[in-house]
Amino acid sequence: MTGRGVLVINSGSSSLKYQLIQPDSETSLAEGIIEQIGEPSSPVADHDAALRAAFDRLADDGIDLNDCGLAAVGHRVVHGGTKFYRPTILDDAVVAALQDLSSLAPLHNPPALSGIEVARKMLPQLPHVAIFDTAYFHDLPAAAATYAIDHELAEKWRIRRYGFHGTSHQYVSEQAAAFVGRPLDTLNQIVLHLGNGASASAIAGGRPVDTSMGLTPLEGLVMGTRSGDIDPGIIGYLCREAKLSVDDVESMLNQRSGMLGLAGERDFRRLGEMIQSGDATAQLAYDVFVHRLRKYVGAYLAVLGHTDVVTFTAGIGENVPAVRRDALIGLGALGIEIDERRNDKRGSDARRISTDDSAVAVLVIPTNEELAIARDCLSVI
Ligand code: ADP
Repeated sequence: MTGRGVLVINSGSSSLKYQLIQPDSETSLAEGIIEQIGEPSSPVADHDAALRAAFDRLADDGIDLNDCGLAAVGHRVVHGGTKFYRPTILDDAVVAALQDLSSLAPLHNPPALSGIEVARKMLPQLPHVAIFDTAYFHDLPAAAATYAIDHELAEKWRIRRYGFHGTSHQYVSEQAAAFVGRPLDTLNQIVLHLGNGASASAIAGGRPVDTSMGLTPLEGLVMGTRSGDIDPGIIGYLCREAKLSVDDVESMLNQRSGMLGLAGERDFRRLGEMIQSGDATAQLAYDVFVHRLRKYVGAYLAVLGHTDVVTFTAGIGENVPAVRRDALIGLGALGIEIDERRNDKRGSDARRISTDDSAVAVLVIPTNEELAIARDCLSVI
């Protein structure tokens, strides 16, 4: 490597993604994913084994991490609570504080902490930096961040809207401003990050003013396996009447809801085929997904007063023209006019899919969370 490189590690509960990036030249030198961590039939028993496997693969590619100009290791951490919202160099005290936060994100933070622990042992000479998914939304206006519940309980248990996918919302909104050729602080934007997890944000002059995920990444849009918004009364009702435990309900809402819960399938490629072949449950799941998305676009238009840009990103946002069309069709009165030909064209570059006359620029911009994490890392070392 000629410039400063960063190894970005994103450890989930059953997968570990890694990417070796040189932020200055925006080049990715190597990337990969180790899957099925800890599953019964898998050779990868735990995060320790996963990271060793990742290092072996990098070595197979001719990359020696101890001797390739690496400047830092960046770790994606989902929940930073109220305390962590800047890129933070990981030492023992920070790791202990993050362990304390695990109760706020029991599904997400523990695997990241395992990855951090192993990586710090394996690359002890390098700075390790935590980048938080919640960071971008740390200063949401109180009216958007506050839940209308007993305020003493909320304070005691640190209950507020934290928001997630912040790295992506920030990166994509900056790219969108560059694409339309205007300064970020002059633009109102709506960003729709639609991947397995999905979230929307409203951004006024470069500052996020609302976002759809909340205390946890469960709130908001319909997702691959997560319900998004539901009536909170459903939880008590299921516990009381169906005799489900709180853990059962929580795992149902996180792992067996959303598109998977409605149609038995979470991948939009497969869902598209099912709809084509006349599958009514797949069609309903799609309709529920799009209806929720339109509701958020409408809500955020009202929150912002007007928007200059609406941007789609992540796996579904970048690759499924039907979702983009159905989310925004018929909104000419609000200044949004999709050009169907532009929308249908496939591509991997940033592009405009609204008509030239549309008052609102509708864009598709590929997200790149790893690059954003790598840049943030270099900003603190
Ligand atoms: P993650 O949240 O895991 O990072 P991604 O942003 O990679 O998710 O999005 C994954 C989802 O995007 C897939 O489950 C699939 O539904 C959808 N997707 C990705 N590529 C395509 C494609 N070419 N056509 C249709 N859907 C796609």
